[in-house]
Amino acid sequence: MMEYRCRYCNHLIGQIEDDLVTELDLGFHRLTPAERRDIIIDDGDGHTHVKVVCESCQEMLERNPDLLLLSRPFQ
Ligand SMILES: [Zn+2]
Repeated sequence: MMEYRCRYCNHLIGQIEDDLVTELDLGFHRLTPAERRDIIIDDGDGHTHVKVVCESCQEMLERNPDLLLLSRPFQ
C-alpha cells in the first residue's frame, strides 16, 4: 500500500495498492537517489509513504514562494 500525503499539511491525498502501479508509472525512476530518499519513505511495515504537495499547499506556495524556504510552513 502506498500512501500519498502532503509534505506540508500532512493531508492524505490518496492510497494506491502497490501491485496496481509500478514505480515507472509514477515517474519515480526519474528521481535521483537523494530525491527518492526525501520523497519516498518505506516504513518497513509494507507501507510506502510518498510525500507530495496537495493542491491547496501548491496554491499557497505559488502565491507565497518565500514559504518554500521553510520546511513546515503551516505547522
Ligand atoms: Zn497540503
